[in-house]
Amino acid sequence: MSIIDKAMDANRTYARNYDPTMGKRPRPKIAVVTCMDPRLSDLPAILGLPHADIDVIRTGGPAVTDDVLGELVVSTRVLGTTEILLLNHTGCGFTTFTDAELNATLSASTGDGSPAPMRFYSYSDPEQNTQEQIKKVRSHPWIAPDVPVRGFVFDVETGRLREVKPVGRPSPDGMLARKNPTSVAPESQAP
Ligand SMILES: [Zn+2]
Repeated sequence: MSIIDKAMDANRTYARNYDPTMGKRPRPKIAVVTCMDPRLSDLPAILGLPHADIDVIRTGGPAVTDDVLGELVVSTRVLGTTEILLLNHTGCGFTTFTDAELNATLSASTGDGSPAPMRFYSYSDPEQNTQEQIKKVRSHPWIAPDVPVRGFVFDVETGRLREVKPVGRPSPDGMLARKNPTSVAPESQAP
């Protein structure tokens, strides 16, 4: 039996005990962008937040693509989330190749190079990746300046989160400025 067939069997059991109030419109409080890596799947445990509070946006890396930016805009402007957490991690599969290498490998092994150059958003350093993401999200004109955008690296060896400080100066139009000074640059979470 395939994994999907087993999952379909399990779903029949799940649905028998399903809470129908879950059908109401959700009211998420925070948007989390994280990698598709299975070690990042238990966000309620990692972050100590209920499932219902988290809008989860997952891509490989994670990559903050135009699609992800669109989802963050909808999450904060339409769905009601008030904070954005960018969650990278150590040991990411997307650091094990470069886009150029994978394009070359797949073009050669499949004999079809027509999809190349495909963008896989490989990267080398999670900290730097996080800094670039913070900058990209923070500078988007449709992400409100009073929505905190904070980035972290999850250490897969220890389970701990390390906050990544944003780099660079605020842009002249003040896009990086926070309205509420008390929320500026809090220290990393206690261990
Ligand atoms: Zn990853």
